[in-house]
Amino acid sequence: MLKKLLLFALAGVALFTIGILIGHFAIKKNSSSPLPEWVQEVAQDVDENLIEKFIAQVDNAQIEENLKVLTQVPHMATTAGDEATVEYMLKRWQDRDTGLDAAWREDYRVYLSFPDKDKPNNVTVVRGSDVVGSIREKEKAYRTEQDDPEVVQPYAAYGPAGHAKGKLVYANQGKVSDYEHLNRALGNLTGTIAIVRYGGAGRADKGINAAPFGVIGVLVYTDPYDINDGKMSDENETYPHSWYLPPSGVERGSYKTNFGDQLTPYLAAKKDTYRIDEKDITGVSPIPIQPIGFEDAQMLICELDGSEAPETWQGSFPCKYNLGGPGFKNTSHFKDCDVQLDVYNKAELKDSANVMGVIWGSVEPDRYVIYGNHRDSWVHGAVDPSSGTAVMLEITRILGQMVKTGTWRPRRTLIFGSWGAEEFGLIGSAEYAEEYISKLSQRTVAYINVDISVFANATLRASASPIAQDVIFTASKQVKIPGSDTVSVYNNWMQHSNRTSPTHGLIPNMGYLTGAGSDYAAFMHYLGISSMDIAYTYDRSKTRARIYPTYHTAYDTFDYVSRFIDPGFTSHQTVARTAGNVLLRLGDSILLPFKCSDYAESLEQYLRVAMENFEAELKTNGISMEPLKEAVKSFRTAATSLEQTISSSDVVSNSPLKARRINDQLMLLDRAFLNPLAFPDKYGFRHVIWASRSSSVASFPGLADAVVKARTSGLKQDWSQAHKHLSIVTQAISGAAHTLTEAHAAL
Ligand SMILES: [Zn+2]
Repeated sequence: MLKKLLLFALAGVALFTIGILIGHFAIKKNSSSPLPEWVQEVAQDVDENLIEKFIAQVDNAQIEENLKVLTQVPHMATTAGDEATVEYMLKRWQDRDTGLDAAWREDYRVYLSFPDKDKPNNVTVVRGSDVVGSIREKEKAYRTEQDDPEVVQPYAAYGPAGHAKGKLVYANQGKVSDYEHLNRALGNLTGTIAIVRYGGAGRADKGINAAPFGVIGVLVYTDPYDINDGKMSDENETYPHSWYLPPSGVERGSYKTNFGDQLTPYLAAKKDTYRIDEKDITGVSPIPIQPIGFEDAQMLICELDGSEAPETWQGSFPCKYNLGGPGFKNTSHFKDCDVQLDVYNKAELKDSANVMGVIWGSVEPDRYVIYGNHRDSWVHGAVDPSSGTAVMLEITRILGQMVKTGTWRPRRTLIFGSWGAEEFGLIGSAEYAEEYISKLSQRTVAYINVDISVFANATLRASASPIAQDVIFTASKQVKIPGSDTVSVYNNWMQHSNRTSPTHGLIPNMGYLTGAGSDYAAFMHYLGISSMDIAYTYDRSKTRARIYPTYHTAYDTFDYVSRFIDPGFTSHQTVARTAGNVLLRLGDSILLPFKCSDYAESLEQYLRVAMENFEAELKTNGISMEPLKEAVKSFRTAATSLEQTISSSDVVSNSPLKARRINDQLMLLDRAFLNPLAFPDKYGFRHVIWASRSSSVASFPGLADAVVKARTSGLKQDWSQAHKHLSIVTQAISGAAHTLTEAHAAL
């Protein structure tokens, strides 16, 4: 034990010596003198038996129990319920027998937005000063959970307070093209209130897009077509009878476009940090906006006058969706009525906690594998996010126990993050990334995100940097699906979603992390840390639901999960086994299980799409794609050569220094694609390959968006921007290729 501690403390210094010593011992390896114990420790590699043991120990009953505790009360960020989950995480991670080496909280003072408890937001239908109809303030209670006084009224976080009264119009999903269509059809939208459905555009964009047309307020609802496969009745079709959303259910959410704390861009939101003026905040709706349930939306939409909305705008209500007169039909009891929005949201600075836990690495304590999920929910949050936290706690229970009993310690340091205030815009994880940017950039091997662990019971779903595809595949081949001793998670996944890879043939279809849907955003896009997002999800042939139906509502409860999402908690167990397996491989392998050739394949695929869609037009405008083709080719050459080096030499037993050198190349590969100046208008997006993209063409985001813009405008300066983005991505790829070649290769 003492020796272990000593080695641990000296690991940094020792590594230099070890290379020499190993060389020395390697020369003498035919003689009878055995290797000293500590040299063997340096050679600690992933242990398949240990992984099998881990898989066997993942207990569905423990996960169920975790979820029960985590979802006892609503735990919206910074509320008393949230504080209770902070305490619970600390208690678990500081447990003497099953805890981690250390656990602590880190608070940030963040800018949040809440409705006013004393003055609830109101939506009414009015004729003059008479109230003819009103929209419910709270969701209907089917069980005691919905009656909890801590259930926050449905609202649009960061939507401005304000009062708006006007004639109602229906604007489909609130995309720019939707408002354009509506504006053409009606001639003028000035002074109207728009009702729009979820989907198609970001939440805040539904208001941001509306304002330039003169729209003064927006109502947002979830159409049963998009979430409930058309089911609408709570007598027998929706929760509590099934997993479908009841008519009064309302999706809450953050109505802002940038991630992280809004007042402290690119700085951690500490108590005394410089803050920008509230009036300088961008990316929020300039007009009042309020989400409502579909039964109220039906009451409004089915009374609308005007011409029939296009076919693709129709939903599941038993009426024709009209655009609005603007306003209601002459035959309606709402004839001549206005819709009035009274929104009383207010912003506050609040202290939000991340809970951090760590298992120190034995050989490379200065290399981190981070595993995280947010802790805050909108209401009880049994699926989002507690299904992920319940899984994380089961993983840490097993690993913590192995550490406490002295049976195992990872080669690298494992850091666990329970992020705060994610629902308000990925705030806790973004502030963490901003505070520790230098250390995390230099030392982090990977980030694993498991937010919602189980959307549904059908199949694994993973999105990741392509470098991590192989390790996710390896782990998923080793784990069996619930209720089967023979079918692997991998095979089942391939059945549900697959593609043909030029290198590997038929494989499961792994997604890319191109957006900012959860806490991986700051790691992948801002820091360039190879990230992955893992969950169990739907059979797409069986439902159209755009997400699990009670998402962000008061019906996302333990009862809902245990009866409809995952009875028996075996899908949770499967996710814990798979994600934990990935974590162990990243933490313990001498050589990181990363494949840069899979990265090359993704770049080649993006290049093909770019050539098909853009090359001819670029050429017409005097811009050549040849340098980009050369860069992608050079990346493939460098990747092939590095992988040959890895497979041809016995790195593991011969040269820890060489292993460390190769690992650094792999660890830093995603970092090589960062360009802090590439997207000045996209907050936090610095990764040239995976940044968010507005264009539907699945290719390099800067290039795709610039070409689409230039194509529409025809302006010379827009084609210049396209040229600029082509050069940015070309040089990022060739720069990354250079980092993969041998250190002594010609520059
Ligand atoms: Zn979440």
